[in-house]
Amino acid sequence: RAKEIGRDAVQVFCAEMATRAHEKLERQEELRQALAREEFVLHYQPQMDLGTGRIFAAEALVRWLHPERGLLSPGEFIPLAEETGLIGPIGDWTLRAACRQNRAWQAAGLSPIVVSVNVSARQFQEKDWVERVAAALAESGLEACYLELELTESLIMQDVQQAVETMHRLERLGVHLAIDDFGTGYSSLSSLKRFPVGRLKIDRSFVMDLPGDPDDAAIARAIVSLAHTLQLRVIAEGVESREQLEFLREAGCDEIQGYYLSRPVEPRALEALLRIPSL
Ligand code: C2E
Ligand code: MG
Ligand code: MG
Ligand code: MG
Repeated sequence: RAKEIGRDAVQVFCAEMATRAHEKLERQEELRQALAREEFVLHYQPQMDLGTGRIFAAEALVRWLHPERGLLSPGEFIPLAEETGLIGPIGDWTLRAACRQNRAWQAAGLSPIVVSVNVSARQFQEKDWVERVAAALAESGLEACYLELELTESLIMQDVQQAVETMHRLERLGVHLAIDDFGTGYSSLSSLKRFPVGRLKIDRSFVMDLPGDPDDAAIARAIVSLAHTLQLRVIAEGVESREQLEFLREAGCDEIQGYYLSRPVEPRALEALLRIPSL
């Protein structure tokens, strides 16, 4: 009996695995088609300089406009894209689209902003990555100083030596570099000072419970002071309330990004925000 039950369980288990593997293949094929059909769109989330009250930059965030399931957030397809290597071409598309859009805003007469693009580890590790960045700039006509690349600590820490080398090559191109989700990874202080980055982005998890949570308040202050000691600018992500903004301003944080200012929006909506002189 016990043996039989065991056998049944194994069969059920195998059938489930097969179904799951099959579903995954389907999703993968769907993602490949999405790329060919250009079903991806970029939304832009503005960033405000707390000193001037101006929107000076925006983060490009990819979405998949799925024919049946509607607008999908990156959490729903980036992991699969990373697993299958499709992140390479998707990331390329993102980078080129963001450069093109930013150039188009400049051509439309808006005062220039920096657009930041998220980079995944796999993309960053490709041998011709720096050339791809250069190509995206050349093709769009965007000056390098209006592009920022967001790298996570964990991406950098996978191979610090290699990462620092690539970062220096990107720096020579003239693009800005930022460390995303700062505080969630493990970069040591000694390695941090070797990175040619211009700013740190305080992860949303430390911002969420501000100003009430004393630990998060201490962490946020510590990151601001660390950034300033290293002569970096510091931005807080995920700012949702005036109280959080006021705390961060008082703590000396330079810039903010979050729903309080605006959700990520379509290009036209960002353009409208850029036409407002200052907030
Ligand atoms: P991230 O780079 O840390 O981006 C910030 C995420 O926080 C975005 O989620 C944004 O919509 C969300 N967010 C911003 N402000 C607030 C706020 O006030 N409250 C809350 N609750 N959330 C806020 P999104 O767009 O879903 O992107 C998730 C992640 O997907 C990004 O995290 C980034 O790591 C990744 N991602 C997005 N676009 C790309 C891309 O083009 N390439 C790659 N490799 N990754 C991307
Ligand atoms: Mg980011
Ligand atoms: Mg982030
Ligand atoms: Mg984050």
